[in-house]
Amino acid sequence: DTKLSISGIAKRYGPTAALEPTTLDVRRGEFLTLLGPSGSGKTTLLMMIAGLVEPSAGRILLEGEDITERPAYRRDIGLVFQNYALFPHLTVAENIAFPLEMRHMPRPEMTRAVTEALELVRLPHLGQRYPRELSGGQQQRVAFARAIVFKPALVLMDEPLGALDKKLREELKLELRKLHRELGATIVYVTHDQDEAMLLSDRICLMANARVAQVDAPTDLYNRP
Ligand code: ADP
Ligand code: ADP
Repeated sequence: DTKLSISGIAKRYGPTAALEPTTLDVRRGEFLTLLGPSGSGKTTLLMMIAGLVEPSAGRILLEGEDITERPAYRRDIGLVFQNYALFPHLTVAENIAFPLEMRHMPRPEMTRAVTEALELVRLPHLGQRYPRELSGGQQQRVAFARAIVFKPALVLMDEPLGALDKKLREELKLELRKLHRELGATIVYVTHDQDEAMLLSDRICLMANARVAQVDAPTDLYNRP
């Protein structure tokens, strides 16, 4: 059951191939990780799925619909980056409500959705705080909540634990796994951390030199001839 179908997608910057033509299917409900060293093309691929980088070639289907030509803001996709990117002048609840405001969700429904999202990321009491009053780990949880509150077809995460210290990273790693189970969302996740990929992923897409080298379940990754 295919959620996202990427065919022949490629990106060049002048003579440099940031991503060679790549074909990849993401299954419904899976946690798929793009794992590879710095410069291997992970972020470029993720940003093309997000609609934030224009492909040089190829196309992308989300639920069978061609989104290659659709601008980023019209895509049914939740995004989380390394540096939280919360709005500093909005409360936590307003930050989480933002994508719902964009979609003109009625107030009562919005309040319910924000409350649910706050509970899901285990911050039920922090709705009226401002981002600067929160720790880094709490801010990143708010960013998770904002990315999932509108029940997107797909959630994209680029090194979301990269800015956190080791202890917080371990903690949020386990929470991310739970979050994925509870949501049943389809997640494409970027990291260069092998342990993180092994723990979180249903499948790992190993990238090197602007190409996909291998796609496998974590347990099969090192056992394939
Ligand atoms: P990763 O996320 O795996 O670290 P990237 O997708 O960021 O890799 O980058 C892949 C390659 O494309 C790198 O060689 C990088 O220097 C190049 N690249 C990425 N973005 C640009 C850009 N805007 N202009 C020129 N080269 C770029
Ligand atoms: P407004 O912008 O209408 O003054 P708020 O500043 O209270 O409203 O927050 C914006 C939206 O976020 C509200 O419409 C509400 O749906 C939601 N919201 C605000 N605070 C909370 C909270 N503590 N728990 C859940 N949802 C909240």
